Amino acid sequence: MWQVVLHYGNHFLVILLIAWFYDRQNLWRNYFVLLATMLVDIDHLWAEPIFDPKRCSIGFHTFHSEIAILIYFGILIFVQHKTIRLIAIGLIFHMITDGIDCLWLNFESFSNKLLTFTKI
Ligand SMILES: [Zn+2]
Repeated sequence: MWQVVLHYGNHFLVILLIAWFYDRQNLWRNYFVLLATMLVDIDHLWAEPIFDPKRCSIGFHTFHSEIAILIYFGILIFVQHKTIRLIAIGLIFHMITDGIDCLWLNFESFSNKLLTFTKI
């Protein structure tokens, strides 16, 4: 439950804050650019199954791979175009949000193992 609230809160609400900090004059435009970065999840379409709540996206899906993430950081560092940099920020934040899910999954699996171990 809290994992879902945190995940979608990051995907829909925190990006509003990012858009505001990035450039208040163009808040809604920036918000929609950041929302559009969620299209990166299109890479789930060629995974089997398409959605698996127990799967960590980072390092599994094409646009969530370590190389793709390095490219997003490269764009952020080397590209000066403001909108393209905002897209890179959105993609990196998307990876952070998905990464939190991975940590959550690993923590759940770790705590379940710990509970099982302490019952012995
Ligand atoms: Zn994702």
